[in-house]
Amino acid sequence: MENSTNQYLLLTPGPLTTTQSVREAMLKDWCTWDDDYNKDIVEVIRTKLVDLATEYNGYTSVLMQGSGSASVEATIGTVIPADGKLLVINNGAYGKRITQIAEYLNIEHHVIELSEVEQPDLEHIANLLDADSDITHVAMVHCETTTGMLNPIEAVCDLVKSRNKIMILDAMSSFGGIPMDIGELGVDFMISSANKCIQGVPGFGFVIAKTSELKQCQGRARSLSLDLYDQWDCMEKNNGKWRFTSPTHTVRAFYQAMLELEQEGGVKARYQRYLSNQRLLVKGMESLGFRCLLPQSLHSPIITSFYSPTAPNYDFKEFYTQLKSHGFVIYPGKVSNADCFRIGNIGDVHNDDIHRLLDAIAQTMFWQKATQ
Ligand SMILES: *Cc1c(COP(=O)(O)O)cnc(C)c1O
Repeated sequence: MENSTNQYLLLTPGPLTTTQSVREAMLKDWCTWDDDYNKDIVEVIRTKLVDLATEYNGYTSVLMQGSGSASVEATIGTVIPADGKLLVINNGAYGKRITQIAEYLNIEHHVIELSEVEQPDLEHIANLLDADSDITHVAMVHCETTTGMLNPIEAVCDLVKSRNKIMILDAMSSFGGIPMDIGELGVDFMISSANKCIQGVPGFGFVIAKTSELKQCQGRARSLSLDLYDQWDCMEKNNGKWRFTSPTHTVRAFYQAMLELEQEGGVKARYQRYLSNQRLLVKGMESLGFRCLLPQSLHSPIITSFYSPTAPNYDFKEFYTQLKSHGFVIYPGKVSNADCFRIGNIGDVHNDDIHRLLDAIAQTMFWQKATQ
């Protein structure tokens, strides 16, 4: 059993279940000024990330300390000039977070507010872009982890490109797990982090950027630690050196996780595994009487929201605790107007795990058992 030393399987959208070999890669300390760390690990990761993201030339990558949100904040805070304006397409908690970042940083912005089960309306976006010529940048989340919904990136990117705006994509929970080519899409800045579909441990995020666009961002950052341009410049000039203390163990584990992604057969193979996990999960849950929040057509294979049972004695905390004692950690809901819980498929999770989970859920459904 590869994961025998794990106490439970994390069915959450990051941190997630990593392989034992990824965790073991952290058992050494690294010196941050030597080639064996910077050149042989950081630079290799940077190159591999660009290769995963696109077959097009002209892209580069930057790694940034912190959780994924720090990389979103670094991007928003570094790429939008003082006289720029950001359009945010918001249909969930992570779209909202981008808005919050713009508010904190005093960046002029306009938000398209949608409900968490609503897809962006292309005509509305087109009209807004045509009516407000101050807008310079557009930001959207790819897989809204709030619900598990996939946003229509191709159509939105096409629109944004046809209006010559800069496209910022939060692909935190989808990059590495859903095939896409950001060069083909025309994305200028794509953000993700170590502890999502690449299946590393938490500690840093990364941005894949169109080099020509990033090069224009010198001196724009609103924060020293989160200056995406300066971090990139330092890595470029010094063979992968981070400006400030780098999360060495996490980075080493991420390198191992990238090798394991290649061994699995790359993003396409990983996508197939997640997809088959998700289908198996939905089928099994539906036969137990649960219902999905979203129609399958809007769904990503990353995470699924289920309506909570309506039985009076159902209690999420109790359900969660009982499942945890069976070895599975599920996730609370995050949708504001529907009572849900979520189950993630990403991480070192396989079909047999989903079968075991479904058995555990069937045994746990205390709210259906006769009360004494
Ligand atoms: C996980 C996630 C983030 C970042 O979350 P952190 O908790 O800061 O790592 C941002 N956007 C999306 C879509 C996510 O799934």
